[in-house]
Amino acid sequence: MTIYVNRVLNMKQIKAIGFDMDHTLVRYQKKTFEELTYSEMKNKLVSKLNYPKRILELEFDHELTIRGLVIDKQNGNLIKISLHSRIKQAFHGTRQIDYKEMMALYRGEFIDLNDKRFEAIDTTFSVPYAVLFSQIVQLKTDYPQEGYPDYNTLEADLIDALDMSHRDGSLKGEVAKNVSKYIVKDEQTVRALERFKASGKKLWVITNSDYNYTKLLLDYAINPFLKDGKHWRDFFDLVITLAAKPRFFTEKLPFLQVDPETGLMNNSEGPFDKGLFQGGCAKLLQRDCGFSGEQILYLGDHIYGDILSLKKSCNWRTALVIEELEQEVEAFNKGASVLKKIESLMSEKMTCEKKLDELYAQEYENGLKIDKKSVDQEFEKIKQIDGQLSEQIKAYQAFFNPNWGEVMRSGQEASRFAGQVEKYACIYMSKVSNFIDYSPRTYFRPHKKVLPHEF
Ligand SMILES: [Mg+2]
Repeated sequence: MTIYVNRVLNMKQIKAIGFDMDHTLVRYQKKTFEELTYSEMKNKLVSKLNYPKRILELEFDHELTIRGLVIDKQNGNLIKISLHSRIKQAFHGTRQIDYKEMMALYRGEFIDLNDKRFEAIDTTFSVPYAVLFSQIVQLKTDYPQEGYPDYNTLEADLIDALDMSHRDGSLKGEVAKNVSKYIVKDEQTVRALERFKASGKKLWVITNSDYNYTKLLLDYAINPFLKDGKHWRDFFDLVITLAAKPRFFTEKLPFLQVDPETGLMNNSEGPFDKGLFQGGCAKLLQRDCGFSGEQILYLGDHIYGDILSLKKSCNWRTALVIEELEQEVEAFNKGASVLKKIESLMSEKMTCEKKLDELYAQEYENGLKIDKKSVDQEFEKIKQIDGQLSEQIKAYQAFFNPNWGEVMRSGQEASRFAGQVEKYACIYMSKVSNFIDYSPRTYFRPHKKVLPHEF
């Protein structure tokens, strides 16, 4: 599997590789875990926030959303925007808003994500959260008498329900009870990491999860594949739990040493570049390891928590794990012939439009009587092409998410999500084990980007 490159990255210069744990170093069974999150959130909405019991009857439909969408809290819509903040698609509840209605509502405005009215949904939990948002907006439309709150409150309550499920341990508790149901065992990850280790690179885990949960997951996903009965504590040079990212990258927070047998904590004077810790910060870690930011590569799955702040404050190199990518690339390959058809229809349409322009020019520029029959013929052709185009676009989208299409693209442009990836991640991949096909000394170079005037 491929690693994609936004910016030059010479692995020979990388001295240490840090990994986020959840959904990066350790993968989850995506849909199963999303369904669990969804159902925990539903329970919290009803039992703690007094939402109508009807919510409990809702079923998880993961196709209602994709990662990277934006919630418009004023109108209760879910929208997809392009890299340039133009709105491309919108749903109200589970109903797609047609193009005309969408244009009337948003009047081609640029979506400013600094505006509190909008909420970008980019995390691993964005799917269950956005699915529930859509479904409850639909219930509010269908059953106005049942007293669902306004969209702003609904959005805040969903965040609250998600936080409660984290805080009271109901999500992690359920994973702990059924590790094999929720966690993926991937030997290739360990094999890929071994290659880095053999080439002298330090391996770090920097996770926001607590020690007990970290131990549970690493015992399950890493230990079975280590050679000679080794333990993950020996394999990783440094493991930092409860790291409080993104503050880990931006603030000066103290480290606590963790006793691996009891899980109990002690104050520690360091050095902090080896061993098992809780908390801490990038500043002290860098002081003790002696590596410059450019010599450290960090891999995470969360643009805001893992990547954005470290890029801005520490100058570490960055890699993003985007689970959806594997499916996205597969769909892209499957849809290639349909895409060709779309391109050829577009070119036919452009020929008709050019012909029309020429016909009109006869009237405006040369004062001749317009050839109405030819004009009508061209309009008729365009109408037919448009019909075929919309069918083909639908067929192409169906290879991806049937409601929203691609995660990384928004029509002809990159999606906002893809724009974030390009801006903040030096390289990106669907999973850590993709490194297995690359030497630890690889010089990652991006493809030359073709600019409009270079076509
Ligand atoms: Mg993570």
